[in-house]
Amino acid sequence: MNTNQTTTPIDITKVFAVYSGKADQCRCGCAGKYTYAKQYQQEAGERRGYAVTDDEVNATTVAKVVRFINEHIAEAEIFSEPGDHEQIVNVYFSPVREYTAYYFN
Ligand SMILES: [Zn+2]
Repeated sequence: MNTNQTTTPIDITKVFAVYSGKADQCRCGCAGKYTYAKQYQQEAGERRGYAVTDDEVNATTVAKVVRFINEHIAEAEIFSEPGDHEQIVNVYFSPVREYTAYYFN
């Protein structure tokens, strides 16, 4: 996996999911929570292989995480290449908590 840096803020209209969880832990959901954007609910469900339910959709949470990441974008790590369909941007919210945004190019 490649790690890149950026100073370009994330466009929230492209974000289909955010993640808030314990730093450097398993990402299956046992150590944190994924929250989805309404406009990508169906596409995100197809991506992961089973439907994203309404209780996993929350615009306020998506906005909060994206806002924090954009305020700290210079510290962010990008786990994808610029041409990839899907971009993953990660920031440490604190030494023990990470925020991640998943978005489509
Ligand atoms: Zn797990």
